[in-house]
Amino acid sequence: MKFPSSRYEGKPIRLDTNENPFGPSPRAVLAYFNAAMRLNRYPDYVEYRELLSSRLGLQPGEVLPTPGSDRGLQALLQCLSKKYERAIIPSPAFLMYTRFSKLFFNKVEQTPSWLGSGWDTVFSLSGSDAILLLGSPNNPTGEVVEESIVRRFLEEFGMVIVDEAYAEYYGKSLISFLRGFNNLVLVRTFSKAYGLAGLRSGYLAGERSVLRKVEEAMGPFDVPAPAVEASKAAIEDEEWLRMVVESTSLNRAYVVNGLNRLDGVKTCDSKANYVPVYVRDAQKVFEKLLAENIRVRLVTSEWGGVEEAFLRVTVGTMVELKCFLNALRRVLTN
Ligand code: PMP
Repeated sequence: MKFPSSRYEGKPIRLDTNENPFGPSPRAVLAYFNAAMRLNRYPDYVEYRELLSSRLGLQPGEVLPTPGSDRGLQALLQCLSKKYERAIIPSPAFLMYTRFSKLFFNKVEQTPSWLGSGWDTVFSLSGSDAILLLGSPNNPTGEVVEESIVRRFLEEFGMVIVDEAYAEYYGKSLISFLRGFNNLVLVRTFSKAYGLAGLRSGYLAGERSVLRKVEEAMGPFDVPAPAVEASKAAIEDEEWLRMVVESTSLNRAYVVNGLNRLDGVKTCDSKANYVPVYVRDAQKVFEKLLAENIRVRLVTSEWGGVEEAFLRVTVGTMVELKCFLNALRRVLTN
């Protein structure tokens, strides 16, 4: 069935960047517009840090607003490279982890851990001179790391950074670990479940002396005032977040079910708003989908620990996923 949707005529269906197709909370959008009337003022970080930290059960000094989580991670790695020698990255992993680490660390080691490989090689590389950098849920596999393993990482590595960009979809966070460990930093964002990728708003959560150093590496007001105000409103609108997470979960079950019905296709139980799709000759399938105006992400050896390329598909709207499944069926049977 060709899905009738004039909205998509000629436009690519974007299932390649893990954006939230439901958009931001209307309250966040309103706050953004209202902030435009006060652009003569610098952003109010004080109130923002108070709100953010109280929502997380932390102190204001334990959160640091950053322009997107990418920039927060970059500044964090820059600071940590003064104290630690090595950066260890379980792979396959979000490409920015290696790219940013290589800017500051002389020794950057990727080690295959996800896709069921296990954590033995990670532990074999541990040491107080090393930082460990991983995402949970992990991009591109959608897997998460167990709390008992994180506990061991914290005991064996100098510093552990966990990127929780997709934690809202998973419904669990390591924030409570910040009470017991001072060598953990969490990287978080409003780009995903909060639907504010264009806003460039994220934050770090961790021990205040570590964050103070990162703060020194960034400008005092790097997150623009409208982004601060929209982020504050987004945190307050819990109902919207719940709607996004529940809708994503339903749509994910729909696409996983559709994928499982296709011969020669495998996927797994992702905890995020994307699913890995394992097919033979993924590169060709990727190109044929592109020719059908459907963009997905091709995950290659560049991500580390990938022997055979696979696809990563964002959980879009029902219409987008229907178009994707129909196109994939055509591609695989032609
Ligand atoms: N971490 C992961 C794992 C991501 O997939 C992404 C974006 N694709 C980011 C961080 C960056 O998010 P931000 O928009 O907050 O910079």
